Amino acid sequence: MRPLSLSLAPLALAAALAAPAPAMAQDAPAAAAPATAPQGEPKLIVAISVDQFSADLFAQYREHFTKGFTRLLQGAVFPSGFQSHAATETCPGHSTLLTGVHPARTGITANSWYQPGIARAEKEVYCVEDETNPKSTPDNPVVSPAHLKAPTLGDLMKKRNPKTINAAVSAKDRAAVMMSGHDTDAVYWIGAKGFTTFENRRISKAVEAQNAVMAKRVAAGDGALPVPGWCGNVDRATPIRDFTIGTYRFPQAAGDFKSYANGPRIDTATAEMAVRMVDELGMGKDAVPDVLSVSFSATDKVGHAFGTEGVEMCIQMNVLDEALATLFDGLDARGIDYEGVLSADHGGFDAPERQKLRGNPDATRIDPALSAEMLASAVSQDTGVTVKKGPLFYGAGEAGSVWFSSELTAEQKHKVMTALVARLKANPQIAAVYTQDQIMQWPEPKGHPQDWTMEQKVRASFVPGRSGEVQMLTVRGVVPGEAKPFKVASHGSPWDYDRRVPMLFWRKGMTGFEQPTPVETVDIAPTLAATVGLTAPAGTWDGRCLDIDAGEADSCRR
Ligand SMILES: [Zn+2]
Repeated sequence: MRPLSLSLAPLALAAALAAPAPAMAQDAPAAAAPATAPQGEPKLIVAISVDQFSADLFAQYREHFTKGFTRLLQGAVFPSGFQSHAATETCPGHSTLLTGVHPARTGITANSWYQPGIARAEKEVYCVEDETNPKSTPDNPVVSPAHLKAPTLGDLMKKRNPKTINAAVSAKDRAAVMMSGHDTDAVYWIGAKGFTTFENRRISKAVEAQNAVMAKRVAAGDGALPVPGWCGNVDRATPIRDFTIGTYRFPQAAGDFKSYANGPRIDTATAEMAVRMVDELGMGKDAVPDVLSVSFSATDKVGHAFGTEGVEMCIQMNVLDEALATLFDGLDARGIDYEGVLSADHGGFDAPERQKLRGNPDATRIDPALSAEMLASAVSQDTGVTVKKGPLFYGAGEAGSVWFSSELTAEQKHKVMTALVARLKANPQIAAVYTQDQIMQWPEPKGHPQDWTMEQKVRASFVPGRSGEVQMLTVRGVVPGEAKPFKVASHGSPWDYDRRVPMLFWRKGMTGFEQPTPVETVDIAPTLAATVGLTAPAGTWDGRCLDIDAGEADSCRR
């Protein structure tokens, strides 16, 4: 593994240098060994999200994980977890992880939405933005959890006992905010130069120290990242227009913070920051359990920039495995009895150009005619309706959701909507089109997520008044976005490659098992709540408690 910074506590170094962890379940006598279970409540919940870590990536790489992932693989492994809803983006996905409810109830229906009626020039609103603050813009937001309508596990635990510490760190503001919620002790994400926090809070000494370490690394630059031997034949160039993907090794130009923050190295920094937060906040020390949320963003950044099936993702998987070891070894060195869970906000899909070469001829890029601009001009011609300011409608294309101009009269809106729906239905890339009136007649979905209909998936991430009034869903294999260097793939579809993510639970002393039956990410909050003895009124969660005790005992009934 990469050496830890010397300014981290010496304990962490000792752990990094120590012999491998004592033998776990796999070395125990196989015959008639009773399942063991840890005693009492964990002192710390470590909730990890790996952005864009699809069940497909997990399946492809799990045999190669030898570092931090190892202990998670010895726990309760649910390889088929579902972000059940249609809006498979970062903010909605992270909003389900610790609230236990679908985006229809978290209120987080997308990374950003449009409010054509608001006074400011930008009609787009970012999911963790306080758009009522005049200083805020979607690109440079004043960050706030206000749009999140459900309490997180940390919120509920703090309500039960204010001594609970609820903290989060990620490279992305929306990931850290969605996992920690409203009542938080420390929330950090990467800003222009290093970790930062809410406008009305100060960055701590630990953040200053971590930022100094990162600034030094950025100033010095770095060579290519190592390619693990097991990457094998993914290290091959695939042409995309006039450039290629598949062979990049993340050389780090001296002084280039942006590329540092958008590559694998930021996961290492996130793990280091998490360990510093444990020390600074004194997490996992007393009898009152704490929650530390850690969202690793680099897998998503690498997936967008290079797709999921090249050497870039293989390198990233190795760095992630190391970053998890930095985090877990740091906790072990401090003797903290923690319960770890790892999942993801959404899955992902490879660049269609490479899919076509590898047995998936149906993969393709979205038709430019489905962009808001082109659709609006076509619909304007169809109907003769125009507006004075701005477009007829916003969104469409990559957003999959359409918001109508506030200038339209009811009659005009009806006309425009009818024409738009007809145009969308005629496009072969569109699998389904629904209007708000249709969607709101459907009940909130229940039952096994792999069997959900398109309607159920859409309903699970729909909020009237926030979601666009028309929802457009593309057919399987359509990748949103044009191909550009460092931007070749995306997610956000209602298809299982974007919905399916692993869910792994681990605690020292537990007997592991594999459960292939599909589960949901909304099951995570009630599952963890049971292990810390937190009960909540019926209806609090959309998900259910998963019994992660392999034996006769039931972790949901304590
Ligand atoms: Zn993404």
